[in-house]
Amino acid sequence: MRLILATSNQDKVREIKEIYSSLCEELNLEILSYDTLITPFEIVENGESFKENALIKSKAVFDTLKQQGILRQEDIILSDDSGICVDALDGKPGIHSARYSGGNARDNLNLLSLEVSKLPNQTSNAHYCACIGISSAQGHFSAHGFMYGSVISTPRGSNGFGYDPMFIPQGFNKTLAELSSKEKNTISHRRHALVLASYILRALRA
Ligand code: IMP
Repeated sequence: MRLILATSNQDKVREIKEIYSSLCEELNLEILSYDTLITPFEIVENGESFKENALIKSKAVFDTLKQQGILRQEDIILSDDSGICVDALDGKPGIHSARYSGGNARDNLNLLSLEVSKLPNQTSNAHYCACIGISSAQGHFSAHGFMYGSVISTPRGSNGFGYDPMFIPQGFNKTLAELSSKEKNTISHRRHALVLASYILRALRA
């Protein structure tokens, strides 16, 4: 069975493949990114929640592959919409995490660091959220995952991606970018959402 990822974000693809390595064997899944099947196209993420945007992405790829005659009956499309929500900034950047500064990932990190540096203690409680969208011939589904912690104004570490250098998970004193990918994948929002989504995938496979 093909599990087609509705993303061209190589960091997400890498983490999803790592987290689902044993599920792939269990369900005999082949994970591939949709841009290996068709030319990637722009998907307008104009939803008002992680869930809406995740389903916009999985449905867009499902419909396009179907229209182009590439979709197989048993194919499942999986999307990830995610972001970081900072309490002291009223939940920003939230669903706008990928386009917070209008520039690239480094610009986004710099802007959020700057905003956090203006806070009274240069820190705030924060959480990551991931919503996994699933589109299949049997319908559309979603699952959320969260990781709680805090953000700091001076980024540290070089692992992970995005805002990881400024996020310290609860119970740790290192940023996510100072943890190994194995450690991050044990506690992350993406892992929690993917574990819930795995029950949907098992049901669709049955
Ligand atoms: P999306 O592609 O619209 O879902 O945007 C996700 C954005 O949220 C990414 O570009 C990152 O800025 C941020 N993000 C989501 N998950 C993570 C993570 O695990 N680490 C760091 N940044 C993340």
